[in-house]
Amino acid sequence: MSRPKAQGWCPTAFHPMMSGDGMLLRVRPQFNRLSLDQALGLCKIAEQFGNGLIDFTSRAAVQIRGLTPASFAKAFSALQSLSLVSQTASHEALSGVLLSPEWQENDLTHRLTKALYDRLDELPELPGKFGFAMDTGRQPVLQSCSADIRLETSKDGRLLLIEDGADFGLSVSQDTAISALISLAHRFSKAVRSSKPNTRMKNLPLPLQNAQDEHAYKRQVSGASLPLGRTALGFHLAPAFGQTTSQDFTNLLIQSDCKFLRLTPWRGLLLERVLDLSISPVFISDEHDPKRRIQVCPGAPACQSAKGNTRGFAAQIAPQLAANPALNSKELHISGCAKGCAKPQKADLTFVAQNRGFDLIVKGHAWDMPIKTGLDPDIILQNLDGF
Ligand code: SF4
Repeated sequence: MSRPKAQGWCPTAFHPMMSGDGMLLRVRPQFNRLSLDQALGLCKIAEQFGNGLIDFTSRAAVQIRGLTPASFAKAFSALQSLSLVSQTASHEALSGVLLSPEWQENDLTHRLTKALYDRLDELPELPGKFGFAMDTGRQPVLQSCSADIRLETSKDGRLLLIEDGADFGLSVSQDTAISALISLAHRFSKAVRSSKPNTRMKNLPLPLQNAQDEHAYKRQVSGASLPLGRTALGFHLAPAFGQTTSQDFTNLLIQSDCKFLRLTPWRGLLLERVLDLSISPVFISDEHDPKRRIQVCPGAPACQSAKGNTRGFAAQIAPQLAANPALNSKELHISGCAKGCAKPQKADLTFVAQNRGFDLIVKGHAWDMPIKTGLDPDIILQNLDGF
């Protein structure tokens, strides 16, 4: 079965999206980093102008939900005063840059990202979901995260410009990398001019770069990421199912005493220089916490397309994953509808909300053919290890 049409664009601070609980806007802090004042300010904005809920996205961004047209204007101006909005809507749209989260001031990742921010005007108009990954640490850690053009380091230390989906990249120097990236973005833009507006790099039938080019090198394949818990740079944690309240987030910030934090594409936050923290159960700091194995979209009432309460159901299922060895390594996906926004890949078990109960898909996508339909949530909970 083919995937139902998903939204082809992402909300920004300039262009909020209407959702089931009002308007939502997305904030993409520069370098994926927030100062304490900015983070506390965001919490206040969510509380004062939204419904107090804050989403952490897989694009290292945060979303404020539940705005009205009148409160959106106030929220936007408060974000501007915190320097959390680009100068123009087009810069904001093009600023979807993921950084390898352990970058250091003035290292290669930081310098390349700064150079790209300085040259956003030179990029063409790109699809709303298009993004860049500056993954130039010794080993790539963002390969499982969504991006269309990547800069990575090869095993022998070369800087490579890579189209998402390709197994090779073209060697570039630190000085030529951003010009080459901009040129590749222009070639992509030309190539998709007559295609569907939401085409991504990985959907192109042929790569734009030539694998036979004398500067083409094999890409380093890496399953690495930044696990939750203590890291060299600070404490990495995540709100359960990607969402928290402004109050819980504020409490965490005050208790941690951090000065800066980074948003990570695993719906997490890295509290810089915080090495120990006793955290409230609403945040997860253990990568093996079963809640990390459940991908869940906002569901009802937050999303207009949702046919059921996904997060509530996920919270009921999580203890079962912990208690049952048969479910030890299973990845679950709970989706409010067949669009499957939270996990566009296959999962071991996918539950898709319907007007009555949930459909079950085994080892498939949310839009694939279910093997059971209309399952009652209680029946699912009683039989989870049998599916
Ligand atoms: S998958 Fe979830 S978030 Fe996406 S449209 Fe459906 S209900 Fe909404």
